[in-house]
Amino acid sequence: MSRIKIVFLGTGGSSGSPQIGGADGGGEWGALDPAEPRNRRSRPSIVIEAPDGRRLLVDTGPDLRLQLTGAKIPKIDAVIYTHSHADHIAGLDEVRILNRLLGAPMPAYATVQTWTELQDRFDYVFKPWTTAPAFFRPVFEQYTVQAGQTVEMIGLPVRLIGQDHGFTISLGLRVGGFAYCTDVVRLDEAALSMLENLDLFVVDCFTRDVPHPTHANLPQVLAWVERLRPKRTVLTHMGPNMDYAWLRANLPAGVEPAFDGLVLYSEFP
Ligand SMILES: [Zn+2]
Repeated sequence: MSRIKIVFLGTGGSSGSPQIGGADGGGEWGALDPAEPRNRRSRPSIVIEAPDGRRLLVDTGPDLRLQLTGAKIPKIDAVIYTHSHADHIAGLDEVRILNRLLGAPMPAYATVQTWTELQDRFDYVFKPWTTAPAFFRPVFEQYTVQAGQTVEMIGLPVRLIGQDHGFTISLGLRVGGFAYCTDVVRLDEAALSMLENLDLFVVDCFTRDVPHPTHANLPQVLAWVERLRPKRTVLTHMGPNMDYAWLRANLPAGVEPAFDGLVLYSEFP
């Protein structure tokens, strides 16, 4: 038995918290207590570290440089994109630095839809690599994947879960007893059946109460927990009414909010 390490780079919603604005320009906190450092959340992303030390980066959001340097992560071995919304892709250009550190094109996994959208928005990235071996822009070794598959990444078998994200589909990931289900509003039976017997369920929970068109709220997450009975549930992609202290005081046993910089482990057979 060994274990995988999960580093939470960012646990906020698409605007982060605080978002730009506020009376003094220092940020709009909504219902979040500015005095609680764990309410300062960057855009959602994690790193999964395999027992052999290789690292899989999940999404390349706009805060990527500060996230990796803050978490003291010196190298990434592969990237997977959950979907192509800006909060998950806007830091894509930083991959050129990750290319230099790896010394090779970056193995990267995405659905055909996500690759198509990345090519539309970052067309320069997908032109022929004419400066080899130097990396003046990101260079990917592209792998096209789809929900339902189990794909080997950094030596780990990663099961890909199709998730309803409102106006699009996102990919959830499962590795052993760990699952990362960000950017999801509904899970169908096929998805739920892939999330049984979890040790660690990391799940989108954007808001405490009002239903949102593209993200789960707390009652939905608690209904999934009731059904799936994971050993431990950790909330991510949290919006401006998901105050850390309120959540710690009010969530049921076994459910807790993540925070930027949190490190967790999951046993891996
Ligand atoms: Zn998102």
